[in-house]
Amino acid sequence: MQSKDLVHLAQQYGSPLYVYDAEKIKSQYNRLSKAFSKVNKLRINYAMKALSNVAILQLLREMGSGLDTVSIQEVMLGLHAGYEPDKIFYTPNGVSLEEIEEVNAMGVQINIDNLSILEQFGTKYPNVPVCIRINPHVMAGGNANISVGHIDSKFGISVHQLPHLVRIVENTKMNIVGIHMHTGSDILDIEVFLYAAEILFDAAKSFKNLEFLDFGSGFKVPYKKDDIETDIEELGKKLSKRFNAFCTEYGKELTLIFEPGKFLVSEAGFFLAKVNVVKQTTSTVFAGIDSGFNHLIRPMLYGSQHHIENISNPKGKERFYSVVGYICETDTFANNRRISEIKEGDILCFRNAGAYCFSMASNYNSRYKPAEVLWMNGEGHLIRAHETFEDLMKNQIPLPTAVNAE
Ligand SMILES: *Cc1c(COP(=O)(O)O)cnc(C)c1O
Repeated sequence: MQSKDLVHLAQQYGSPLYVYDAEKIKSQYNRLSKAFSKVNKLRINYAMKALSNVAILQLLREMGSGLDTVSIQEVMLGLHAGYEPDKIFYTPNGVSLEEIEEVNAMGVQINIDNLSILEQFGTKYPNVPVCIRINPHVMAGGNANISVGHIDSKFGISVHQLPHLVRIVENTKMNIVGIHMHTGSDILDIEVFLYAAEILFDAAKSFKNLEFLDFGSGFKVPYKKDDIETDIEELGKKLSKRFNAFCTEYGKELTLIFEPGKFLVSEAGFFLAKVNVVKQTTSTVFAGIDSGFNHLIRPMLYGSQHHIENISNPKGKERFYSVVGYICETDTFANNRRISEIKEGDILCFRNAGAYCFSMASNYNSRYKPAEVLWMNGEGHLIRAHETFEDLMKNQIPLPTAVNAE
């Protein structure tokens, strides 16, 4: 989709606005499938926490995707979007046994990531097919907050506890059908990923009834010009070969599973916001937009650099701007960024706004969450209306007026 389409959508639906390009989601899905075409049984489970709009879930379901969920509410949304329970994976961290039992009763594949729950669940439901999350302790990831495989991470069952794990499985006679790892977001080095995969293969030998191996996700996508990205094709070539060899060794054709979030939707997303104020100080030119970290928190939370364009004046002379939000505390999207000349009223477009942007939005400062539009077959489809005052008041219970009056 083109900049002029985005400008039209901002005019039509108002700003701020999230726009997602269906074609880009499809092409990323197909790219991943193709990279692993040498694996007979491949399954892609979209990690819906990246972008959980039901229309996006429907789009991915039609493409053949399964779903990776981390909460019972995500499972409910997935079922609502029409996914069969057996297409849904549930990979929570630190949730109660009760929630796991509830999700299990819905017919969804359970993935357990600690020994305590594993033992309790296995004792109660020895016949339920269970997947276990292994922590291979490989440090992969672009940011300490999203690196989940290292030694003191709270995720997964340590690979060093494998003997203990195997004992629990033997004692409870539970049915382990898969093992899983997810080493964190932003894999820069394929060799690191392959190294972690070897640890998973090794652990897999301890279980005789496996049906699948789940390699999680963490594919890095480019955020700025000349940024590095995970070489999916290279990974596909190397891991497919190794996976097929492992299946031969194991004596059974297993399913290879990935659960990408960012890879599928990040680049498909555009966040559009209008410039309210251009403010020149002695050192800086600020462009203040009609949004803030309540709508897009990644720059403030992770220091992420989202590429920003002035789509109202794409050919203008470039100047340096600090792009800031309207939240009443430090709220910076970009420091001294080269952007073509900005006037008040211009629409700025933030790239890579598909993953972890709307899904992390809040009502901080009592602002409404923006609308979402899916661009499909050359036209925009509203897939979420922007909020209204009723949404802010929903579930709030004011005091009786008599109390107020005193
Ligand atoms: C968040 C998450 C993913 C998706 O990670 P991306 O970096 O968005 O691809 C996959 N699996 C699990 C278990 C997750 O928690």
